[in-house]
Amino acid sequence: MLNKTSVQEQKSLISQRVNRISPSGIRRFFDLIAATEGVISLGVGEPDFVTPSHIRQAAIESLNRGYTKYTSNAGIPELRQELSRYLKESYNLGYAPDDELLITVGVSEALDLAMRAILNPGDEIIMPDPSYVAYDPCVILPGGEPIKVPTSQENNFEVSPADIEARITDKTKAIFIGYPANPTGAVMPRGKLEQIAEVARRHQLLVISDEIYARLVYGVEHTCFASLPGMKDSTILLGGFSKAYAMTGWRVGYAAAPKDIIAAMTKIHQYVIMSAPTMAQVAAIEALKSGEDSCREMLEEYNRRRKVIVKGFNDIGLPCFEPRGAFYAFPSIRNTGMNSEVFTEKLLLEEKVAAVPGSAFGQCGEGYIRCCYATSMANIEEALSRMKRFVTKYRVT
Ligand code: PLP
Repeated sequence: MLNKTSVQEQKSLISQRVNRISPSGIRRFFDLIAATEGVISLGVGEPDFVTPSHIRQAAIESLNRGYTKYTSNAGIPELRQELSRYLKESYNLGYAPDDELLITVGVSEALDLAMRAILNPGDEIIMPDPSYVAYDPCVILPGGEPIKVPTSQENNFEVSPADIEARITDKTKAIFIGYPANPTGAVMPRGKLEQIAEVARRHQLLVISDEIYARLVYGVEHTCFASLPGMKDSTILLGGFSKAYAMTGWRVGYAAAPKDIIAAMTKIHQYVIMSAPTMAQVAAIEALKSGEDSCREMLEEYNRRRKVIVKGFNDIGLPCFEPRGAFYAFPSIRNTGMNSEVFTEKLLLEEKVAAVPGSAFGQCGEGYIRCCYATSMANIEEALSRMKRFVTKYRVT
């Protein structure tokens, strides 16, 4: 009988695991933004660019040719071949298109599949704090426990290998990292990643590496975790098209991993998804084949904006760590005396600038706000001028 009356009784209809996760702090904020007119949004984590026209065109042509059916569960073979070529050329990694690659509905699905494929109830996943909002729920829903490793501005928001090792127990299943990082823009230096690889090897742990921002780095090199000596066989590499090619709405991403893990992920994927959207996969083939120039152009523009916003925050008295990757700035708001939720709500209501409270990304995000600079330079400049007024009003010295 579903016609129960009290809220408490209704709650019991929902699984404990679902009840344990909160609605996304970012989404709640988007509703506030939508209800306020004239807002400059530094909130949403997606490119302001439209998908490059040659990529859109490839999808349109495929639709006109009637290419509208399901694809192979693992993804269009040509896409897997292109992806295999891309990973070889970029990182000298050899993934077999037939059994070591899986095309997913964004990195979002790949994350979920990876966790469901490896976790038994009670297993622990060690990950940095702050980190992307979907990581916790993806661990909790299949019965896992996220174990947080604090990171801080003093350490450039790089997770410490020793801190990871200190949290390993007999329940630890994997180390989960995501660099370049959302929300901080941190990029891990190769040496530190090698130390994490050493820890993983010593304790025979898997490493899950979300590298969705791999192409968005500024003046530093991105190291693909799986490319570190000996790590390919114990890494689940997650990557996608949303950010580098401005393709968030197409919903296409991938996982690259040892074949037994890909087989397990494909088993779940084939029952709950079947295949990633067909036209999006066609677009992804075009992105891999000819998207390099568009990707570089967008990257250059993000870099210009990055420099302006970081300098702007420092100038107005919001000390800002220099992000070397992704498209987020993560200034400290501590000297305003407000917590990040109060700061972002007041900023939205009083100055119509939207940013995301750092606390939405974990306890260590408190005291910061996430500002996405994938928006026009004019918007960035106007947002900075509004924020200057706001900060001057509230700063406690
Ligand atoms: N991983 C990180 C770190 C992200 O920031 C995002 C999106 O914001 C995703 C994964 C999800 O990306 P996708 O659009 O490929 O599902």
